[in-house]
Amino acid sequence: EEHRIIMDETAIRRALTRIAHEIVEKNKGIDDCVLIGIRTRGIYLAERLAERIHEIEGRPVDVHELDITSYRDDRKAVKAGGEGAAPSQSGPDTIVKPTNVQDKRVILFDDVLYTGRTIRAAMDALMDCGRPQNIQLAVLVDRGHRELPIRPDYVGKNVPTSKQEQIVVSLQEVDDEDQVTIIHQ
Ligand code: 5GP
Ligand code: MG
Repeated sequence: EEHRIIMDETAIRRALTRIAHEIVEKNKGIDDCVLIGIRTRGIYLAERLAERIHEIEGRPVDVHELDITSYRDDRKAVKAGGEGAAPSQSGPDTIVKPTNVQDKRVILFDDVLYTGRTIRAAMDALMDCGRPQNIQLAVLVDRGHRELPIRPDYVGKNVPTSKQEQIVVSLQEVDDEDQVTIIHQ
């Protein structure tokens, strides 16, 4: 099993700093912007990004979290209907903390973008909370293999992968180190 480092601590820090500047530039400041981190690692990335933006603009930016339990994670999750229940016809289960997205510029942040199904579910969940001005997408790693017409606005690193490869994102907050590796199973 081959482990290859594709981003070290410095590369992750620089990518987040660059993305913070790109967000501020694209939105001409941070008026009406809200950062929404997806699940575990996207939340830590969104919090780090908010710190950078605060440093750049001298103003805080709101950060919220969104938990999308996608079809891929259903095996681990305890689902309504019990273990082994048939997947819901309505798609991935979503847990949305009340977030006011009405008229906001919503910037979603996830660690890895793959098929795009998680982001689609995230957009569905958000739009049940109101009508955002727009939704933008930031990811630390885009590994390709999209199955939906979704593309990120801000990318830490594009990493072409095979479907047999997997990206491992380790973050200080949960993994005691900052590192992105690729493994071939
Ligand atoms: P998608 O829904 O686009 O197929 O997959 C994206 C979601 O699954 C993200 O929330 C991401 O955390 C996770 N994911 C998909 N592929 C990978 C991968 O190779 N590595 C990691 N760490 N997460 C992945
Ligand atoms: Mg995830």
